[in-house]
Amino acid sequence: MIYFDNAATTKPADSVVKAVCSCMEENFGNPSSLHTLGLRAQQIMDGARKKIADALGAAPETVYFTSGATESSNLAIRGAAGTYGRRKKRVITTTVEHSSVKEAFARLESEGFEVIRISPGENGEFNPQDFIDAADENTCLVSMMLVNNETGAVLPVKKAFSGIKRKNSEIVTHCDAVQAFMKINVKPDDLKADMISMSAHKIYGPKGVGALYVRKGIRLLKQNLGGKQENGMRGGTEAVPLIAGFGEAVSRLSGNMPERMEKLEELRKYFLEKAEKTDSIQVNSAATAVPYIINISLKGIRSEIVLHFLEESEIYISSGSACSKGAKSGVLGEFGISPALEDSALRISFTHENTKEETDEFFAALEAAEKRLRR
Ligand code: PLP
Repeated sequence: MIYFDNAATTKPADSVVKAVCSCMEENFGNPSSLHTLGLRAQQIMDGARKKIADALGAAPETVYFTSGATESSNLAIRGAAGTYGRRKKRVITTTVEHSSVKEAFARLESEGFEVIRISPGENGEFNPQDFIDAADENTCLVSMMLVNNETGAVLPVKKAFSGIKRKNSEIVTHCDAVQAFMKINVKPDDLKADMISMSAHKIYGPKGVGALYVRKGIRLLKQNLGGKQENGMRGGTEAVPLIAGFGEAVSRLSGNMPERMEKLEELRKYFLEKAEKTDSIQVNSAATAVPYIINISLKGIRSEIVLHFLEESEIYISSGSACSKGAKSGVLGEFGISPALEDSALRISFTHENTKEETDEFFAALEAAEKRLRR
């Protein structure tokens, strides 16, 4: 099997599976219970929280566990709008966000907020000044992803957020860092982000658990109503085993980021050299994109057909445009990719454990796909 779909999800690491299982078998207590079993569960969560906080260069009390990045971004956006948007009705985002952010803003719009959606320029790059110009005295929130999940484009979050904060320090900033966390540097203080969404299953952790970093002093209107868990920020018994797995996933990736990145850069270079030698392939990702997400089009053949052909050889990739029940997200078009190329877009997403040999096999299978499908 060749798994080139790591931006969709990653295979949980063995040590993660162990951490989850041993927590379920040995530490099933409810962290809110006052007895020893509860205390042990609480300690497991504290340990995981500290690992995530350390990776962010932040204090443990700023990390809140959720059911995944979708919930994190919902809490961040709707929670901040609920607190700071009573009088200030302008909110700013981009046109290339994941549906979890996009839909949260659409809901705010239907509730009377003025949503400003910033697009990339003709070169496919965002201009930080566009965000700064859009932020006025009536603005309460700005949300911008760090790495785009379809193309790997890196957005100028730090420049936009620091410019906005200089203009009006009261504007709350949120960053969806799902495709960046534990891969490139994600530090709230560097990015000038007040809130950061993360997900465990993109970094060899379990599905159904994520976290939201919330800077001290930022007040969010609680969205998951219930008990006082997560310091009153989110009701509901915490998924302790999944949280234990999240902590382990972060811990095993801490400390070797430069080495992993070097491997990925090399793999991307190798992949692109091969792609460029193939006339029928168009590379859609920018040269400045992260090395672990590459969007290409096999011109003239619909993505889904290629995807299923490759699947027969146990090669797994995604169609390059995130689809929901057949409807394209439109994100590739925002990056200047033509509708024809969008229809044939494929997303290849690596981890540092993928190899050049797998890349060779992928291109051989793609060639076979072309031969069969163009007949
Ligand atoms: N944001 C981005 C950029 C993503 O790629 C994803 C997952 O694909 C999410 C948010 C949602 O994460 P989760 O599956 O943890 O809800």
